[in-house]
Amino acid sequence: MPQPQVIVAGAGPIGLVTALGLARRGVAVTVLEREPGIVRSPRAMVYHNGVLPGLAELGLLDDVEKAGVRATELAFWDYANQEAIRFDLGHFEGHEPFPYNVHLGQDRLADIALEHLREYEDCQVVFGALVTGFEQDEAGIRVSAYVGGHLTTYRAQYVIGTEGAASPLRTMADLGFEGMTWPERFVAVNVRYDFAGLGYADSNMVVDPVMGGIVARIDTEDLWRITYHEDSALPAETVPARIVEFFDRLLPAGADYAMTQYSPYTMHQRAARSFRHGRLLLAGDAAHITNPIGGLGLTSGLFDSYVLAPAVAAVLAGTVDDAVLDEYAAQRRQVFLDYASPRASDFKTLVFNSTDRTQLDQTLGTLRAAAADPAIALEALRVSQPCRTPSLVDAPSLSASER
Ligand SMILES: Cc1cc2nc3c(=O)[nH]c(=O)nc-3n(C[C@H](O)[C@H](O)[C@H](O)COP(=O)(O)OP(=O)(O)OC[C@H]3O[C@@H](n4cnc5c(N)ncnc54)[C@H](O)[C@@H]3O)c2cc1C
Repeated sequence: MPQPQVIVAGAGPIGLVTALGLARRGVAVTVLEREPGIVRSPRAMVYHNGVLPGLAELGLLDDVEKAGVRATELAFWDYANQEAIRFDLGHFEGHEPFPYNVHLGQDRLADIALEHLREYEDCQVVFGALVTGFEQDEAGIRVSAYVGGHLTTYRAQYVIGTEGAASPLRTMADLGFEGMTWPERFVAVNVRYDFAGLGYADSNMVVDPVMGGIVARIDTEDLWRITYHEDSALPAETVPARIVEFFDRLLPAGADYAMTQYSPYTMHQRAARSFRHGRLLLAGDAAHITNPIGGLGLTSGLFDSYVLAPAVAAVLAGTVDDAVLDEYAAQRRQVFLDYASPRASDFKTLVFNSTDRTQLDQTLGTLRAAAADPAIALEALRVSQPCRTPSLVDAPSLSASER
């Protein structure tokens, strides 16, 4: 195995998708992941149609669609009145390459990206490699990691930190993680039950101060994700008992559902002061984190990746100056602060904190009018597109035969 040109810290979805973007451009990459395999906790699962062209460009979309499910309808529910305001994603037909979203657990996206990476000889993924530090100078950057209990040093030209919200590389580079933490506890639960039989769309924002949450289909065999919130003062150990109480309220009496996975989370709106520190670049949750309502977290990370991988590859090939990486850092940070984070906060506030009924009625009225008018619905449905920033290098787009 040749010495890597780039080290990617963290084999989450953003690390692996970024590594694949680099590998496809001929860059030798080593991915270091602290866990023994892909992390399976229930997290992102909605891929907005805006990110699908990027997955197609990487050759991933066919496999992602095979493993996942196409989502064609989104609904906002007024829980108090059991009214659903439905939006048809078919409005994107003729306006976007893919007139649907795809739902799939982010661990499965990581599996698929890993499978594709294995086709590149110059690329390796090392599991059980805990990244602990880095040092850089004009010649390159060195990353230290514990691998099988031994402290090992890896050398490269660049390091991409995609090791999630607690990023040790970001901390070591003293890049901060400014913002706020929401006071509530969020609980994500995977459940087998026929929610479609109750009238739920593929993706639903249920608006209510007590019963608010997300209800979204994960597969065609009635696996659904429900994310709700609770007072964080309640004991964490008794979350499972309260999940049962929540489903007793949400579902008809005697409903026969099966919980397959759950995980409590704290949610934040935060971003690093810079997404670049010399030869260290940050992407995904290591760079920015948002609450998941509206599905803009992984979305933002994917758009980081789509811009970063071609830019780093072009810098290594000597076709652009490395100042392009400053542009990456500035543009991706700005779009997160100006759009993704405030938009996700608005969704979160609507779903969980709509305590003023008059104001809520106004919002629901606007949504109802939007749903009834295809042109306004189309604009309302453009949730992910504003997170996108253009390519910073003139990377030729791949032909269909290369996909
Ligand atoms: C309940 C929930 C639902 C969500 N739903 C959506 C959604 O539908 N759509 C959406 O866009 N976003 C969603 N998000 C957000 C999404 O999950 C995150 O944005 C996404 O996980 C970010 O991916 P990542 O690869 O940057 O980081 P991570 O997924 O956190 O991956 C980081 C990886 O780095 C590894 N690592 C950590 N430390 C080290 C170290 N020191 N050395 C080596 N490896 C290390 C970790 O083990 C992990 O594998 C959701 C989040 C939650 C909690």
